Amino acid sequence: MRTLIKSGTVVTATDQYKGDVLVEDERVAVIGTSLDIVADRVIDATAKYVLPGGIDVHTHLDMPFGGTTSADDFESGTRAAAFGGTTSVVDFAIQYRGQTLHHAWETWMKKAEGKAVVDYGFHMIMTDLNDRTEGEMDALVRQGVTSFKLFMAYPGVFMLDDASIFKALLRTAKNGGTICMHAENGGVIDVLVQRALAEGKTAPRYHALTRPARAEAEATHRAIALAEIAGVPIYIVHLSAAEALEMVAEARDRGLPAFAETCPQYLFLSYDNYEEPDFGGAKYVMSPPLREQAAQDRLWRGLAFDDLQAISTDHCPFCMKEQKELGRSDFSKIPNGAPGIETRMSLVYDGGVRAGRISLNRFVELTSTSPARIFGLFPRKGTIAPGSDADIVVFDPNRTITLSASTLHMNVDYNPYEGRQVTGATDTVLSRGRLVIDGGKFVGRPGSGSFLKRASRS
Ligand SMILES: [Zn+2]
Repeated sequence: MRTLIKSGTVVTATDQYKGDVLVEDERVAVIGTSLDIVADRVIDATAKYVLPGGIDVHTHLDMPFGGTTSADDFESGTRAAAFGGTTSVVDFAIQYRGQTLHHAWETWMKKAEGKAVVDYGFHMIMTDLNDRTEGEMDALVRQGVTSFKLFMAYPGVFMLDDASIFKALLRTAKNGGTICMHAENGGVIDVLVQRALAEGKTAPRYHALTRPARAEAEATHRAIALAEIAGVPIYIVHLSAAEALEMVAEARDRGLPAFAETCPQYLFLSYDNYEEPDFGGAKYVMSPPLREQAAQDRLWRGLAFDDLQAISTDHCPFCMKEQKELGRSDFSKIPNGAPGIETRMSLVYDGGVRAGRISLNRFVELTSTSPARIFGLFPRKGTIAPGSDADIVVFDPNRTITLSASTLHMNVDYNPYEGRQVTGATDTVLSRGRLVIDGGKFVGRPGSGSFLKRASRS
């Protein structure tokens, strides 16, 4: 099976040129100008960008949380991802207390099997660290689950103490894994939440007011310090606060391998959204919370100057009806999370590249190449080069779309960007050479996505 993508502008993290891309079966075979080759399918990419497929390294599909389950499963979630130009996701398997890591991995593999329409990998969330599970970490790294997420927040549910965190970091020094950290001081936040509730402060905005930026900065600093003592890299997930970014920047200035991602919601939304009337603020209840508007500029600068290395989504949708509503009389019972898997590429292109905040190459780097590098997928994923997987997005930089729950494909009854117009949209998507989105229509097949066995740090 040969697919020829003609006359587009090929863009990678480093290059931009007019060219044709020939895909043979699952891989990129030839890149050239005016390729005169017979193909089974020709895609005209005139006036379009030909981009490596987006890689979203932070999604929560089919995830139990707070007595309910995130509204997208691996089928609807990866289909929405494909519509938005994302061809690989790295989701999170969860080890609950008393369970083995292997059991958690198998459970999440079953959730994805037969459903995913694009490729998927897993990070392992560890909530119970002991001698046995430490040994299991090594086995998982060999099996391609090469990153582990730990929580400094959610005491009694996910939170680990510093000693456990430190042990896990030391283990990755030996086994080549990477620790991803949810950095918020959960103890402090819990006290603030209990105090607010005791004072009768139950509205959604108190979710943000009880999770101060300094609690994120403190945990970010502590996480990096523990990794420094252990002598290993660390990756901070969903960084939202300017104060936390300062901690990463300071560490990087000292030459430490500290990495961090942010998410579109922290670039385009702010604390003000929590003030929406009639429980509307619940749409934005996520952790960390949305910050003051001024943080957005700081994050964009962090992205432009490489203090932040990736943009992921933390896609974790809960419907307003029956899910977010669980917390109508108590903000601490609102399921944490929001949809975003489908809107990332268009939002970041529009608000980043078109607004002059980041270059087109940096856009590709932040949404694809750099996450592929950090998480052991490069150069199979994250670029367009001979031999790499044919995960390719034909992206129209001039098409304007209106973001709305009524037209997007995520399985959730609201959209945090409802009514927002963005210019730059995905037209056609190949996943390992297979057509998944064709001119804006879904033509993929559930179960055609494969598990991504990722490489460890060398
Ligand atoms: Zn998350």
